[in-house]
Amino acid sequence: MQKVIMGNFNIILFLCNWGPHTAFQTLQDQRADIPPDVKMIRIPCTGRISKSLLFKAFEKGADGVALVGCKPGTCRYGSGTLTAQNNIEDTRNILEYLGLGKERLRLMTFLPDESDELLTFLQEFTADIKALGKSPVVTRAKELIGPIDKQALAEIISRHDIYACQDCGKCTSSCPLALAGKPFSPRALATSIIAGDIESPSVQKHVWSCLTCGLCYDRCPSAVNFPEFIRDIRTLISKTGVDSLPAHGGFFHSLMRSMTSPDLKTRRWSHLPADIRTDAQSKVLFFGGCAPYFDVFFGRHLGIETTNIIFDGLRLLNFFDIQPAVLDNERCCGHDLLWSGDQDNFKKLATLNADMINQLGVEEIITACPECYRTLSHDYPENGIKLNATVTHLYDFLETEIDKGAVNFKKIDKRITFQDPCRLSRFEDKADLPRRLIKHLKTAGFQEMRHNKSASICCGNCAWTGCDSYSKALQTNRLREARETGSDLLVTACPKCQIHLKCAMEDPFLGKDIEMEMMDLTTLIARTIFWE
Ligand code: SF4
Ligand code: SF4
Ligand code: SF4
Repeated sequence: MQKVIMGNFNIILFLCNWGPHTAFQTLQDQRADIPPDVKMIRIPCTGRISKSLLFKAFEKGADGVALVGCKPGTCRYGSGTLTAQNNIEDTRNILEYLGLGKERLRLMTFLPDESDELLTFLQEFTADIKALGKSPVVTRAKELIGPIDKQALAEIISRHDIYACQDCGKCTSSCPLALAGKPFSPRALATSIIAGDIESPSVQKHVWSCLTCGLCYDRCPSAVNFPEFIRDIRTLISKTGVDSLPAHGGFFHSLMRSMTSPDLKTRRWSHLPADIRTDAQSKVLFFGGCAPYFDVFFGRHLGIETTNIIFDGLRLLNFFDIQPAVLDNERCCGHDLLWSGDQDNFKKLATLNADMINQLGVEEIITACPECYRTLSHDYPENGIKLNATVTHLYDFLETEIDKGAVNFKKIDKRITFQDPCRLSRFEDKADLPRRLIKHLKTAGFQEMRHNKSASICCGNCAWTGCDSYSKALQTNRLREARETGSDLLVTACPKCQIHLKCAMEDPFLGKDIEMEMMDLTTLIARTIFWE
């Protein structure tokens, strides 16, 4: 029997079952010198290997990944090779931002009789990956603790004062999911958990449904903070091995977990436009967030431009004579891991960011993202992670500067309406702040949606968890409300709102009546401001 020699490197070969597998089999029959580092996974078609699967391999420790399929025009399913090309290009761009480098992922195509060419490729690719070295991505699977920790459960119930619930049902009657027809009730969920039914299939399923939008908390006469309660219950449940069904095959959770690797050197600032000025010595740091990854992941089918929020935020700081530092090795703030129950990895991300920020010695951190703002200012200290700097939302900074009176705005011939982000309007009680900024703008008019400020409705998804047809219903209703205002432009203040609402607009089954131009407030301000 042939002795299997395993190499030191992990090179994953996703190999199409049809043409290329025949070539690979020939190599096996010939006992050809296939590098022992190559681990072959036979797949039905390269087009079925999504971005999340490609990336998952890197999260799980691959040093290199090759997707090998049929030559263009020979795909049995017609479009497999083209789909693979798109997935590879996007994932390579994400690897680049992440600091792993595009070169670790390759797409190749072979005919069944091209076994020599396949062998040459495998040997060369292995040599290239070895020259790059081992991947710095090191992630650990969540620590599982078996059955529910009853003491921890009792502590969560008591910490969030769930027994204060008066059973009035206001939470359920205000919950946008329940109102959209989903068989989901925060009151019933809390009652089941108190009653000791946390392991029931119903609780284990519905605990991932909540959008953590905070509308119920706003209405609750007993001030039961249901979103934070559900966040902590998720943390507890996920330690038993039960997990959410994350959107997009868990791509973003994989990406965030990968960023917990200490030796990773991210490059998310590598595409900063030349007109933007930064200063590594500045006492002000601009924290960007994950928008560059979103634009690559969704760019092909949603056409969003959330990276512009970062660029325009920096331009506005420059406009007011601030040349901020940026964190070369910035990681995700950790918001989505925290709210989807992965507190351990959230803390790892938070510690990495906080250590780097504290080392820089900045006095103030400014961010344009509501989730980053909430997470840095509130959740880091709550989890014992200390930042030696104040955290400011860009809008607060802008308001102070604009109120000094030296600037004016160009006319925009558009009537606008505004989508409140939950984290800013409800969680941080800053619903009036963006509106005060909007008042400075020279628009053709501003009209509130029916549900606005603290009563506004969520964009349909949070932390990439539990996206379903009810999410779509929420988005559709929200966009209809926006259209009902008679506005031409829907102004958003969170990259995720833009993504999720655009997702509904691009849904071919939802019709044209929900389409609407969208722009982030930061971008709108940056494009219309001028010195008087
Ligand atoms: S609104 Fe508050 S008090 Fe009323 S049922 Fe819900 S959690 Fe209980
Ligand atoms: S946080 Fe939002 S989605 Fe969750 S139960 Fe409350 S209102 Fe419903
Ligand atoms: S709404 Fe669309 S973009 Fe948002 S999580 Fe769901 S599928 Fe993804």
